[in-house]
Amino acid sequence: MRTSIATVCLSGTLEEKLRAASAAGFDGVEIFEQDLVVSPQTPEDIARLARELGLSLDLYQPFRDLEGVDEATFAGNLRRAEAKFALMRRLGMSTILLCSNVGTATIDDDELVAGQLRRLGDLAERYDIDVAYEALAWGRFVSEYDRAWDLVRAADHPRIGTCLDSFHILSRRTDLETIARIPGDKIFFLQLADAPALTMDVLSWSRHHRVFPGEGSWDLTDFLARVAATGYSGPVSLEVFNDSFRQADTYRTAVDGLRSLRWLEAGVSATLNGALGVAVGSAAGSAAGGAAGAGTALDLRPLPEVAEPRAVDFVELSTEDLGTLTRQLHQLGFDFTGFHRSKPHVQLWTRGQARIVISEIDSAAIDRPWSERSPGSYLRGIGFDVDDAEAAMHRATLLHAIEVPREQSHDEEVLRGVFAPDGSEVFFHQSDGTAPAWIREFGTDTGRRASRIDHVNLAQPASHYDESVLFYTSLLNLHAQPSQDVPSPSGLVRSQVMSSADRSIRMPLNVAPVHSELVGDKARAQTSADPYPEHVAISCEDIFEAAAIARARGLDFLAVPQNYYEDLASRFDLDPDFLRRLQEHHVLYDADSAGEFLHFYTSTIGSVFFEMVERRGAYQGFGAPDAPVRLAAQYRRNRGL
Ligand code: MG
Ligand code: MG
Repeated sequence: MRTSIATVCLSGTLEEKLRAASAAGFDGVEIFEQDLVVSPQTPEDIARLARELGLSLDLYQPFRDLEGVDEATFAGNLRRAEAKFALMRRLGMSTILLCSNVGTATIDDDELVAGQLRRLGDLAERYDIDVAYEALAWGRFVSEYDRAWDLVRAADHPRIGTCLDSFHILSRRTDLETIARIPGDKIFFLQLADAPALTMDVLSWSRHHRVFPGEGSWDLTDFLARVAATGYSGPVSLEVFNDSFRQADTYRTAVDGLRSLRWLEAGVSATLNGALGVAVGSAAGSAAGGAAGAGTALDLRPLPEVAEPRAVDFVELSTEDLGTLTRQLHQLGFDFTGFHRSKPHVQLWTRGQARIVISEIDSAAIDRPWSERSPGSYLRGIGFDVDDAEAAMHRATLLHAIEVPREQSHDEEVLRGVFAPDGSEVFFHQSDGTAPAWIREFGTDTGRRASRIDHVNLAQPASHYDESVLFYTSLLNLHAQPSQDVPSPSGLVRSQVMSSADRSIRMPLNVAPVHSELVGDKARAQTSADPYPEHVAISCEDIFEAAAIARARGLDFLAVPQNYYEDLASRFDLDPDFLRRLQEHHVLYDADSAGEFLHFYTSTIGSVFFEMVERRGAYQGFGAPDAPVRLAAQYRRNRGL
């Protein structure tokens, strides 16, 4: 599949954008006119640079407000078009994007518009240029792709084709069946963007909230499969207007974009090979070359397929404060399994199937790419129990993840992993039984208690949030649940759960309010960084027993206010003795029609705290109504209030 990216997706100068797209591995780019206009480079310089970088210049865009106008206006529009065609020759480019008229159209007449497109085609012919006509979702008269296709067909000119843009089509929920009726060679260009489900005007949605495929809520696998089935053989290009991406590191955004296309390509490849004619419905049947050849014109490459992880194998914490951290684990009922036999600064603590590896910080441990974590105690990595660790690692590498450098001696379990976008480490391990073989490197696992890691709550830098969603989706096959906003004293916390289908893996990703560390005591916050904390939640069978042991061992519980319990009494019909018990043990409570959730929190060490949870029945949540209580209590505690 030939990959391309619009320069508007990326930050920086036009030259920086081209270099980043090339370095990431894209085959080509779309030149966004504004990027060229503001550049001191001549069109010939840009063409030369692209050649040196091995990038094709796939699409010049946009050309606006051409059609549906009176003759005098149209004559002026043709003059504008001719100037652009001449410029494109200097760039060595052969395809231009024509957006449906937004501003100047006054005549809604198919015959007139088709005639004007035809005359543009005649002009384009003289410059050896193809025109890809795209329906903008907010076009004055033409806002649906099927209408644009009708007009292209009516224009009946070899230089006039259509551009399909998933944003404009999916945002309007246009029926996708028409795609199958467009011959692949009349689709002159294909642009992809995903978007979160939002209710707002479509122009603002498009200009600020587009994301790369896999980062939003649309089914782009189905969309691309439908286009592939037409026999389309051109580039598959990303056109994403996103406020964060435009501020982020250019190369990094380019890698994120290419990862999204590789993931999508493999998904479509699997769809077309596995369920041809089922997943894409009638679309496959009308493809050039017939159903058997569907998608082959795009030359789709698969990725090693991986099953969802089975469980969290371990969580690794790094700490400068070993005493406080291990004391807290002991208070929570963890047992010390042992030191690692060849790495004395690493130790293992277990509570049933919940395994926490602790490494004492040395300075080398902080030298990681894209790290935005402060030292102290922090969540360094997560090990996942997978079906096939080698396949998972191979897939991760093909998705442009960076491998974690690791020292390992010959007699130790092979453990390989990659860096996640937040700088933490993700390891793949396959265990054959309940106790993974690597535990022997620490000692004997007693594994008495019925306990496991229930969820791991990760803080994400706002600037890399969408990248994180795609990372866990594409590498680990996790699924993103709809995002929620949780109120905290320093702002709203955006929270989105990544989980496996059977919920054995649950990872809420949280974006802290951008300025959260600046609220309150500014001077102190700037030195201590007051990081938004992450937590590891451990399941137990009896929360009151766990709380009693913790209290007997002197655990510093996170305090829960009396007001919370009074509110709880009004929300749920709870037995007064039960309510008293909850309060006495600092246990919070939630329930829904599926079951109940009982949990308590520890104080925070560095940027990590723990949560002990008991799930009753089939409750699947995380006590969402309790999260603001927890955030408020932590806010007070951080400030000594
Ligand atoms: Mg577009
Ligand atoms: Mg939690």
